Amino acid sequence: MSQPLLSLEGLSVTYRTQGGDVAAVRGVDLELARGEKLGVAGESGSGKSTLALALLRLLPPTATVTGRVLLDGEDLLGMNWGRLRAVRWAGASIVFQGAMHSLNPVHTIGDQIAEPILLHEKVGEAEATRRVAQLLDEVGMPPARARAYPHELSGGQRQRVMIAMALACRPELIIADEPTTALDVMIQAQILGLIDDLVARSGISLLMISHDLSVLSDVCDRLAIMYAGRVVEVGPADEVHKRAKHPYSAALAAAFPTVGDPASRLQPRGLAGDPPDPESLPTGCSFHPRCALRRDACDVIDPQLWPAGENGQKHDAACVLVLPDEGASLARGEPHGIHEEDKVAR
Ligand code: ADP
Ligand code: MG
Repeated sequence: MSQPLLSLEGLSVTYRTQGGDVAAVRGVDLELARGEKLGVAGESGSGKSTLALALLRLLPPTATVTGRVLLDGEDLLGMNWGRLRAVRWAGASIVFQGAMHSLNPVHTIGDQIAEPILLHEKVGEAEATRRVAQLLDEVGMPPARARAYPHELSGGQRQRVMIAMALACRPELIIADEPTTALDVMIQAQILGLIDDLVARSGISLLMISHDLSVLSDVCDRLAIMYAGRVVEVGPADEVHKRAKHPYSAALAAAFPTVGDPASRLQPRGLAGDPPDPESLPTGCSFHPRCALRRDACDVIDPQLWPAGENGQKHDAACVLVLPDEGASLARGEPHGIHEEDKVAR
């Protein structure tokens, strides 16, 4: 097997706050193949943005990051600043949710798209201008719009500009953190279509983050579901969306029945309660207090990802319900040594 483009190994992020340490990402292992589209879903607060920012070392100094982030086999966490700057545009670039706030109001969008090109590639003004026109065309905007200022554009156009900027130095990987959440439904669908089209045409890999599983399963090849800073399920997009193995993924899938349905956006339907506070996580499986399929063992056992795929598919879930023998008997509530010992140990 060829080396994955991106590989996260035991990635953890803890924020130091006045109230104590917040473990926002806890031991995430993920791989992204070249040209692959991986979706990361989970409710607000599950650690998705922290994960994305950690990949390019964009976290505030209060964050402590451990583990490894390998891009093309090179560890981003150990890289010097000069190398990291180059990688941030030409290796992997990021599209944020709030395009309105990320663009500089006093510069034309053409100048803003040209900036990374002039900075990172030894090209002249004329070549940069040509590239800007080409990039605008690629994201479905008339090249003449290069002379526009951000306030002259609609929300959807500004997000297109952000995507053009992310593409500017022809990265191998684009990280898109809720790229359409701030947009209305029609525009959301257009921007998703654009991203889908661009990655398909250019062979760029995509790591797309959303709280909306149905949006992700439309675009992505594989899905990873995060809960309380952990990946609790990962597998082929359709399998995770339609035949989830973890009760949390199933609840998420049921919560967002239609792509970009604004009514279901804020409160996932059918998923009672709130995600846990990372400062005081429940014992055992972090999801157990909200889980409809909870078993006795679930407040004791914190399962790791375990193969759960059908027909030999690579599909893992972290739930006692997918554990073999021992976990299954625990899940059924049968008496078991580990269960009792663990209870005493606590
Ligand atoms: P998501 O993107 O899935 O909504 P985040 O990564 O933004 O989740 O947040 C994960 C957890 O980390 C949340 O509990 C959030 O409150 C906390 N968090 C995020 N950013 C910071 C920060 N700068 N300082 C302290 N805690 C933070
Ligand atoms: Mg976020």
